[in-house]
Formats: sequence, C-alpha cells, structure tokens
Amino acid sequence: MDHFQLKNGVLHAEDVPLDQIAAEVGTPVYVYSRATLTRHARVFRDALAILPRTHLAFAVKSNPNVAVLSVLKAEGYGADVVSEGEMNRALAAGMPAADIVFSGVGKTRRELHAAVAAGIGQFNLESEEEGVELAQIAASLGKVAVCALRVNPNVDARTHAKISTGKAENKFGVAYDRAAGIYARLSALDGLDMRGLAVHIGSQITDLEPSRQAFTKMGVLMRELRTQGFVVSHMDLGGGLGVPYKIGEELPTPADYAAVVADVTRDWDATIMFEPGRVITGNAGVLVTEVVRVKQGVNAPFVVVDAAMNDLARPAMYDAWHDFAAVRPTGETMLANIVGPICESSDTFAMGRTIDAVKAGDLGIFRTAGAYGATMANTYNSRPLVPEVMVDGDRWAIVADRIEPSAVLAAERIPEWLAE
Ligand SMILES: *Cc1c(COP(=O)(O)O)cnc(C)c1O
Repeated sequence: MDHFQLKNGVLHAEDVPLDQIAAEVGTPVYVYSRATLTRHARVFRDALAILPRTHLAFAVKSNPNVAVLSVLKAEGYGADVVSEGEMNRALAAGMPAADIVFSGVGKTRRELHAAVAAGIGQFNLESEEEGVELAQIAASLGKVAVCALRVNPNVDARTHAKISTGKAENKFGVAYDRAAGIYARLSALDGLDMRGLAVHIGSQITDLEPSRQAFTKMGVLMRELRTQGFVVSHMDLGGGLGVPYKIGEELPTPADYAAVVADVTRDWDATIMFEPGRVITGNAGVLVTEVVRVKQGVNAPFVVVDAAMNDLARPAMYDAWHDFAAVRPTGETMLANIVGPICESSDTFAMGRTIDAVKAGDLGIFRTAGAYGATMANTYNSRPLVPEVMVDGDRWAIVADRIEPSAVLAAERIPEWLAE
C-alpha cells in the first residue's frame, strides 16, 4: 500500500496534490511519501520480530537521500553502505557508526581506513585479500575491525541477470567451498574480529525458494565453522525482497519472507542481520513528469515526456516496468509508447501500453520509483540532475535541489594549452 492516491480527481502524495509540487518545483521531480516509508519500515521490522535477535541495515544504495535515511533511522534502522560516500550519508542522518554494515566488492584502502576510523559496526568482506588488507589497516590504527565473510552460495535467485548476485560466476563473495578455509585464516589475523557470515543473492526476488536454499547452505557452513571452534554469532542474510511494479501483482510479503527465515534459522542461535532496500523505498516514491508533446507513431502515438533515462534508468538498464498514471485522469485511455527526450532508443519507458489518455502539458507519474531511481540519475545529454521532494501529510519540502547544467559546466574548464 502506498500514499499516492486520487483525491477529487487529482493524484496526491498523502495530502498534497502532485500538480502543486510540479508547479512550484518543476518537472521532472521525484516525490517521496514519508508515511509510506515509515509504513514499509514497520511492516518489515514487525514481520521479523518473530526472530529472537535481529539487526536491520537499510541498503542505502536503493535511496541514499539524507531525509529518507533520517526517516529510517527514526524507525530503528542502521545502514548497509557500499562506499565512503554512502557511509558519510548514513552518519549525516544520525545513524550510529556501530549500526552500519560496510559491503561492496571493491572497498578501497582509503575507504577501509575511513570506515575503521569511524568505528563502523561490521565489514562484510568480499575476499580473503580484502580481509588481509583490512587487518593491516585496523592494526595500524590500533583498532579491531568486526567482520563477516560474504559467501557466494551458487544459487540462482531467478531474477533479472543484471541484479543476480549469488551465482558462482558473479563477482560477489568468496566461493562456498573455499569459505571455511578463508574464515579460518582470517580469524587468525590481529586486527580482525571474525564474527559471522553474509549472503545476498540478488534483488527484486519474487520467489522465496532460492533464498531458502541459500540460507540453508549458510546454516551448514555456520555449523561447520562452529564445529571447528570458530565464533559465528552473526548471520547476515542480505536484502533483495521484491516489490510489485504492476498493479495487482502478487508477491511474497515480508511476513512470507520472515516465515522462511524463521523456519531455516530456528536453531541457529545467532543475531540475524538484514539489508532491505527496495522493499522499504520502492513504493514510497514516484517520478512526476510533464508531457512535452504527443507525436504520431506507426502503431501507437509516442508520448514524449520530460523525464528520461538519465532520471530513471531502470527501464533502459533492466527492461523494468513502471506503471504510468495521469495526475488528472479524464477516464479516457489511449494506446501509447512513452519515451523520454534523450537521443537513445533505450530512452523508452513503455511500448504499446494502454495508459490514461494524456496530451501535451499534462502531468503524469511513474510509480514505484523510490528505489534505484534518483540515486542512479545522471546528467546525460547535459540535462539537470533531478530534484527530490518529501511529503508528510499536508506539508512538503525539497530534499534535494535540482542541479542545473550550468553548475556542472562551471566545474569544467578548458586547459590553457588548448587555447594556444
Ligand atoms: C543491493 C544490495 C542490497 C539491497 O537490495 P534490495 O534488493 O534493494 O533489497 C542489500 N545488500 C547488498 C549487499 C546489496 O548489494
């Protein structure tokens, strides 16, 4: 459930009409609902309350806006970060360093150093080499880095290939068969406190069976390590739970997911950690856009909107579907191709889709744009960087400015020797 609904014939975010935000901020613009964020954070947390000990780390990469992070912090979430930049955002939102998990396959020395210095709660190591490097850095700072070892369980998450992370050929984690040996060697290093295992098999997971298989394999490894005398007190099961992108789509709920976790981990006696991203933020945001013009096409007209693949990359990157709706629907529908203005054929949001009838100047929204939306935005075609707004009841605020192309241009220069 979300808070982007029609009221008196106009789409609202909570109690604010979207055309009011568009008029004041311009388009395209992302609009987030605080109530939806809070609701999703609670539904997920409450579902997992059937487990004895948990730690929730919001996957910052899904939506790193500092206002979004501060809403999640207030709901008791820590953060899962994959760069120093994301770490600094989580800290800026007031999340305690101890509640932050540092993931990522290519943490640099500089990032490891900064994270150790900041007192990050857990490093999810993606290789033995990274562990050795981190141990040296921590020891040089007179600190101990708390770590989990990310394991690649070789399970197919049955999601889009570009967001599948748990198959043997994917770059993430260490091979399952080598994990016990690596854990043993890293446990012997000064500077590291190896306390657990981590797994994350992919994103937009819509079938819980691969997760069950992966978690079960992790349980086997956990027991093997304990039998050998190693401490495994924390088990990080990652994120990845999918969200409905189409109205009426039936997906596993957080409660279904929690039931699988509870079943597999029944006798684990460990703190179970989670890194949810999309399931919290996906349906908490929409991208508001204006129709530039409607252009005749062969099979259906092209609805050219002022949002593009640089603002919302998912359709171009993953063939993703985002429902489209008019802000002031007339009740009429039309068959249309919805495209952005960028000079790439992949700048296409929908082909041959029946949508609310729109004409030039009308406003529309792409739904379920709160995750992997604004965070992937860029300035391709020298377009502005898209702004973000948060709504709370009948109030709203700009939570990220539009960065104008002139600001980007101002950061560039022509070297003197080119003018010679
Ligand atoms: C991307 C990612 C997540 C979050 O995935 P969602 O599908 O947004 O829940 C969690 N953990 C890791 C390690 C990730 O890379």
